[in-house]
Amino acid sequence: MLDRAFEKYREPSITHRRFKHADIEPLILKRKGTKLFKVDSLGASVQGRAIYELSYGQGDKKVMLWSQMHGNEPTATMALMDLFNFLEGHGDGFDSIRKLLRTKTELHFIPMVNPDGTEIFNRRNAMDIDLNRDARATMTPEGKLLKGAAERIKPAYGFNLHDHNIYHNVPGTAQPTTISLLAPAYNYEREVNDVRRGAMQLIVGMNRLLQSYIPGGVARYDDTHTPRGFGDNFQKWGASTVLIESGAYKGDPEKQYIRKLNFMIILNALLEIASSSYTQYDAAEYEKIPFNDSRLSDLMIRGLRYQINSTKYTMDVAIRRDEYTTDSGLYYVRSHMEDIGDLLDDFGYVELKAEGLEFMGGKVYPSAFPNINALSRVKAIELLRQGFYAAKLLTMPSNRHHNIPLLLFNKGSLPGASLHLGSEANFFLARNGKPVYAVINGYLIDLSKEPTDEYRNYVQ
Ligand SMILES: [Zn+2]
Repeated sequence: MLDRAFEKYREPSITHRRFKHADIEPLILKRKGTKLFKVDSLGASVQGRAIYELSYGQGDKKVMLWSQMHGNEPTATMALMDLFNFLEGHGDGFDSIRKLLRTKTELHFIPMVNPDGTEIFNRRNAMDIDLNRDARATMTPEGKLLKGAAERIKPAYGFNLHDHNIYHNVPGTAQPTTISLLAPAYNYEREVNDVRRGAMQLIVGMNRLLQSYIPGGVARYDDTHTPRGFGDNFQKWGASTVLIESGAYKGDPEKQYIRKLNFMIILNALLEIASSSYTQYDAAEYEKIPFNDSRLSDLMIRGLRYQINSTKYTMDVAIRRDEYTTDSGLYYVRSHMEDIGDLLDDFGYVELKAEGLEFMGGKVYPSAFPNINALSRVKAIELLRQGFYAAKLLTMPSNRHHNIPLLLFNKGSLPGASLHLGSEANFFLARNGKPVYAVINGYLIDLSKEPTDEYRNYVQ
C-alpha cells in the first residue's frame, strides 16, 4: 500500500542526489497559503538561504521531522517532498489515513536544515561547523533555529534524518546497510526511559516493514551518547526520537530506491504514532537489530601477488572511491587504497579473486593526445590491452570529468604505480606478464570485454 503511494506521489522534479536549495524552495513556497499546510520561514543560513517549516494537521501528538543538517545527506529531503505530495492527494483510497494524520497529529517538517552545505554537497555549514554537534551551544544560525523550533513546538516525537557513508555493512556480510536506525541515548549510561522506549518501539515497526523490502539490510547505528548531538538532546528534552541513516543499496548510487524506503518508513511511523499502534511492540526486538559494521570497499582484490625487490608476496587490497563535487553539480571520484593485508573479514561491492595474477605497473602512452576528444572508450581499452594505463592531454578540458577508462593527465609526469596505503589505485593485474585486468581510478576493468560501466574519472 505504501509502495503504491510512493509511486503515485514521487516528486518528479528531483531525480538525483545533488539537488540544491533552489530546487526545493519552490516546492515549499507553492504550499504557502494552502489549506493543508502552514509554511513559515524560520530564518536564514549563514549565507542567507531561507530555512522553512511546514506544518500539517491539528492533532494532539506533535511530531518534528528535520532533514539534511549535513549538506551531503539528501535522501530524506527527497522523501519529504514526496510525502508533501502524498498529504495533498485525495480520492485515491488513502483519504482515511490522511484524516487520521490530520486529526491525531501535528506534523512539523524542517527540510534541508543546512542549505549552504548542500550547495557544495558538504557535510558542514558555511562556518565549517558540524550542525549535529551544535545542539548544546548553538553557535550557528541553523543550529539555533532548529533548537528554537524544538523549544516552541515541544514535540513528543522527533525524526532526525541523515545519510551515512556507503561502506557500512551488516556485520559479517558483504551486504551494505541500506537503512540504519537508532533511538539515540540521552545519557552516557544509555538508560532507557519511557521516551527512549517509545523511539525503540517505533523502530521495531519500521524494521519489520523494511525487512520485507531489504531482508537483512537494516542495522543499528552506533549508540554512544553524543552530548552535542541533536538526536540525543531531543531525546533528553522529552521527544521520542528516531535517527534514520540512509546508507547504500547496490545499483542505486543516486539513492532513489532508498528514497522510497524513507518515504514508506516515515509515513508508516507517523501512522503508528497517530493510532498509537507502535506501543504494542516489545522494545526488546529493537535490541536484536545488529549494530552496523564498516568493512565495505568499492573494490576488493584477494590474493594479489606483489613483488618487492626480488621477493613476491601475497596480499589483499581494498580500494575505495571518494566523491568530489564540481561546480557544474556533477562529481568525479578519486580512488585510494583503503587497506592492504589479510582482509578476509572485509568485503567489496566488486570482488576479484586474483589467484595467479600479479601486480603490474602500467606505462604512459609515448605520444600525447591533443585533447580529450581524440580518445574514446574503445581506444582506451586498446591502450590498456597493450599495457598503457595513462595518457597525456595537451589541453585541459573545461570540465575535468570524463568517462574514459584511462588515467588522463595534463601537467607534469606520473609517479610509477605501486601498492601504497592512501595512493590512487592505477595498475594492472597480469598473468605471465600480460595484462588481464586493469584497475583505473579504483574501477576494475576486465580487458577481455568492452567497457560498459560508467567511469567518473577526472583529468589530473
Ligand atoms: Zn549526518
